[in-house]
Amino acid sequence: MDETIKAEEGEIFDIELEEDFLEKNRKIAEENVSLLKKYGTIAIDIMGSIGSGKTSLIERLIERLKTKYRIAVINGDLTTSIDSDIIKRHGIKVIQINTGKECHLDANLVRKALRKIDIKDINILFIENVGNLICPADFPLGADKRIVVISVTEGPYMVVKHPFIFAEASVVVINKVDLAKAMDVDVKKLEDDVKSINPSAKVVKTNCRTGEGISEVIKALNL
Ligand code: MG
Ligand code: ZN
Repeated sequence: MDETIKAEEGEIFDIELEEDFLEKNRKIAEENVSLLKKYGTIAIDIMGSIGSGKTSLIERLIERLKTKYRIAVINGDLTTSIDSDIIKRHGIKVIQINTGKECHLDANLVRKALRKIDIKDINILFIENVGNLICPADFPLGADKRIVVISVTEGPYMVVKHPFIFAEASVVVINKVDLAKAMDVDVKKLEDDVKSINPSAKVVKTNCRTGEGISEVIKALNL
């Protein structure tokens, strides 16, 4: 490269406004934590790009866990209800959040959704975030754990190009491993990239279409 321009703090428009938003979000996230804790509900925030396999992962987890736990799902999407309609087929309580133009869920939207769920009757709450690997990292929702799902079809640089979200993850799911060869993507390299950013993250390889690796995800979540 010839030259790099790095955005300095305060140089990007609206940075002060943004700090204020982030602080408000953190406070509401803490309230969500207290509410969920009060009823012993485990909340899991699932992040990842569009098409990485977040909904399929939730489906496979529901199939394995629904006899043991009472499960609900909050589904974030810009405008559609495609994913929540899919989840609904599993006989699970689903709340759709349509964010309009917003590319992430925030704690306030999740608080609103929580009011529509009988939390005391729910053991596990899956929250499917809006498909995006950048700003969800800045908006904790009050979840106990954060999963990041990536797919080998997204290419070899997904991890190194999104360091902040991987730093936030407790579990990283590398999905569609059956396609790694066709995509010429080295799964071990993706795993090493995660470990170098976040040594404590648990990394699991899956094929969420067939269910391969789902037991390991359940183990990684201590469920
Ligand atoms: Mg989805
Ligand atoms: Zn966003």
